[in-house]
Amino acid sequence: MDPHQEICRAIDAYRETAVTTSHAIHEHPELKFKEVFAAEQLCAAASALGIHVERAVAGLETAFRADFGAGGPTIAILAEYDALPNGHSCGHNLIAGAALAAVAGLHAIAPQLKGKIVFMGTPAEEGGGGKIILMNRGALKDVDAAMMAHPMDGEWSTMPALATYGVRLKFHGKAAHAAIAPWDGSSALAAMLQTFYAVDQARLHLRDGSRVHGIITNGGQATNIIPELTECHFVTRALTSKYAKEIAERVTQCARGAAMAAGTRVEETITSGYKNMVTNLTLAHRYAEHSRALGAPSPDPPPGLPTGSTDMGDVSHRMIAIHPVFAISNPGEGTCHEDVFVRHADSPRGYDAMIRVAKALAMTAYDLIAEPELLAAAKAEFAAGRGT
Ligand SMILES: [Zn+2]
Ligand SMILES: [Zn+2]
Repeated sequence: MDPHQEICRAIDAYRETAVTTSHAIHEHPELKFKEVFAAEQLCAAASALGIHVERAVAGLETAFRADFGAGGPTIAILAEYDALPNGHSCGHNLIAGAALAAVAGLHAIAPQLKGKIVFMGTPAEEGGGGKIILMNRGALKDVDAAMMAHPMDGEWSTMPALATYGVRLKFHGKAAHAAIAPWDGSSALAAMLQTFYAVDQARLHLRDGSRVHGIITNGGQATNIIPELTECHFVTRALTSKYAKEIAERVTQCARGAAMAAGTRVEETITSGYKNMVTNLTLAHRYAEHSRALGAPSPDPPPGLPTGSTDMGDVSHRMIAIHPVFAISNPGEGTCHEDVFVRHADSPRGYDAMIRVAKALAMTAYDLIAEPELLAAAKAEFAAGRGT
């Protein structure tokens, strides 16, 4: 039988296990780095397939790595499984289920594979950068190509994820009684509010595709005291890390001006976040071919498609990587991080898409191992695009 057909048949046979596992993870949402239940489910499923599993990889309790095969390229299929405070509103239970089913499909043809498959459990995509930690500790150092797929409200071969930077600001004012002696105080809240206005004024001058958004994490101590200390946190996003950093620096300039105007002092901390996604189009288009053949055309996204950020961006700067998105809702019916998306992530449409995506991912992984010219073309594209 054709290996592609064998893979798809094996994934169909595995459907119930994959759906049950994904559903169980959905019903036990766990925040970043605390995904003990999810990791346990996925490791148990991989072990049941007869795959050797290593837990707590690279010192991360909820990371794992299961692999099989040898004698050729190494392809990693990444699973995310962390939730948000409102549950699985990013649908990572479907990412995990798709990765597991893809690995099951590839394991079914293991004797024919002239390469290694790595099933990598990557915690804390939602703000913890688990993949960055894993890479920095060497957990992906032997990997030639990494792939995953993310649910959304559309079907696209790539997700042009933005680079991020973080800015934390602390304003130090002078406390005073707000009615008896306000002239003795200087308001850390006034400085903070001016900062937000100044950032909004600067927004016009940012390049297209950029974002700045912030929250106040400490707005003052008591209404009858001129606020002595306030704190806020901004995230900047842009097409490149370099520009996201420039925007972060602009935010701190806004803060300095505002601090001076309010007679306060500001403490700034800028931290690098996630890198932008550099999709390997050679590989993404092969994935798209398989997806189309399975009845779900997965075209390149239109310019300016609204997008978020992911630690897969950092992976894509180090190795061949793809991060297609698959539709589990229609535009207008809710998308990632919205409450309604929690339901989409546990719906018949969601699980049907998960199984289809598992097939497309698994066939793409197989092709990379079976067709040296495909891997060579993907490698050449990666080498040419380094640093973008
Ligand atoms: Zn998310
Ligand atoms: Zn997500």
